[in-house]
Amino acid sequence: MDQVIIVRYGEISLKGLNRSYFEDRLVKDIKNALRPIGTFLIVKRDQLIFIEIGASDAAEIVSKVTRVFGVVSVSVAVKTVSSLNQIMELALQMVRGYRVRNHFKTFKVISKRSDKTFPATSPEISRITGEFILTNLGDITVDVHNPELTVNIEIRDQAYVSLNKIPGFGGMPYGTNGKALLLLSGGIDSPAAGWLMARRGVAIEAVHFHSYPFTSERAKEKVIDLARILSGYCRSIPLHIVNLLDIQQAIKKHCPEEIFTILSRRFMMFIAARIALENECLGLITGESIGQVASQTIQGLHATNSAVNIPVFRPLIATDKNEIMHLAMKIGTYETSILPYEDCCTVFLPKRPATKPRLEKVLKHEANLDKEALIAAALDTRETLTVTRY
Ligand code: ATP
Ligand code: MG
Repeated sequence: MDQVIIVRYGEISLKGLNRSYFEDRLVKDIKNALRPIGTFLIVKRDQLIFIEIGASDAAEIVSKVTRVFGVVSVSVAVKTVSSLNQIMELALQMVRGYRVRNHFKTFKVISKRSDKTFPATSPEISRITGEFILTNLGDITVDVHNPELTVNIEIRDQAYVSLNKIPGFGGMPYGTNGKALLLLSGGIDSPAAGWLMARRGVAIEAVHFHSYPFTSERAKEKVIDLARILSGYCRSIPLHIVNLLDIQQAIKKHCPEEIFTILSRRFMMFIAARIALENECLGLITGESIGQVASQTIQGLHATNSAVNIPVFRPLIATDKNEIMHLAMKIGTYETSILPYEDCCTVFLPKRPATKPRLEKVLKHEANLDKEALIAAALDTRETLTVTRY
C-alpha cells in the first residue's frame, strides 16, 4: 500500500521570514526520530510535511513522529491518483476497514483542493464522497459538527485520503530557542517543567544536587533515569551532578533552622548560575509552583530568586499539583518520580520552615558563610555526564 504520513505543524507556519529555518529544523528532527526505524523520503510542501512510508508499519512511525516538538498532528494517508472515482472508492474502502476495528455511528468528510484544475470544488468532493459512503455502508450518519470519524481528502498533484488526526505535542523544534539549565530534582515537578520549556524549543542542560552519603547512590540513579526519559524528547542532555552536603552542613551549623531550606535553595541558584554561564545557558528552569510547599510562598520565591541575575523560568508557577501530575504521566516521568528515594532537601528538613522568610534576615545569616569558597568547592567536585535515550 502507498502510505504517506501527513504532518501538520501550526505555529511554525506563522514565522514569516524565518519560516523555512523552522521548517527545515522540523524536517531534520523528524528524520532523526525515524532513523532507528529506517530512511524515508520526507518532503515539505505548502505548509505540510509528507513522509513516504510505503508499506512500513505506520503505527510505529506515528508514535515517533508525534513525539517530535513542533508537530501539531499527523494522519496516515493513502495516496491515489487525482480522480474522483478513485478517491471515493479508496475512502469507502478505508472507512469499511476502520469499521471492522472500531464502533462508530457518525462521520464527516473534509476536503481540501490545492489543485484548482481538479474538476470539483472542495465542498462538492466532500458531499459526493460522503453520499457514496452512506449509500454503501448502512447504519451510519453524517454529523458535520461532532463526528466520531473524520475522513480527510487532500488533493494536490495526487490525492491523499486519511482518517482522523492523531495529535502531537505542538511547540517549536527542539533547540530553536537557545538553551537553559534545568534544576532537576527527583520529584514530579522539575522534569515536567523541563519538558514544557523543551517543547518551546529551548535546549535543556540539567543540574542535580545531592547530599551523598546522606542521600543514596540509588537516589542519584533515579535522577539519571529521569534525565534519560526527558532525553527521549531532547536527543541528549548534559547532566551536572553536584554534592551540596558541605554547604548544607555549613548552613546547619551557622544559620537558624527555619531558613535552612531557603538558604540551600539560594546556594543551588548560585551554583546553577555559574554552570549556566560556563555552558551558554541563558536561563535557569525550576519546577516551582506558587504556594506548593513552605519554600514556594511568594516570599520564599522572592528570597530564592534574588540570589541570581540570570532569568529564572518557572513554567509550572500557576499550575495545580493535579495538573502537574497529569503532565508527568503524559510525558512518562511520573512512575519514576514517585519512587521513594530521599532528596537532598529532605535530609535536613527543618521542623518549622519559615513560610514568610524576610530577605534581609536571610542575607544577614548568609553573610556568616564563606560563600565563594563553598561554591568553588562544590563546583570542583561535580561530575558531568551526557544522558541519552539509546
Ligand atoms: P520537584 O517535584 O521538582 O522536586 P518540589 O515540589 O519537590 O519539586 P522543591 O523540593 O521545593 O519542590 O524544589 C523546588 C525546585 O527546586 C524543584 O522543582 C527543582 O527545580 C529545584 N530543586 C529542588 N531540589 C533539587 C535538587 N536536589 N537538585 C536540583 N534541583 C532541585
Ligand atoms: Mg523536590
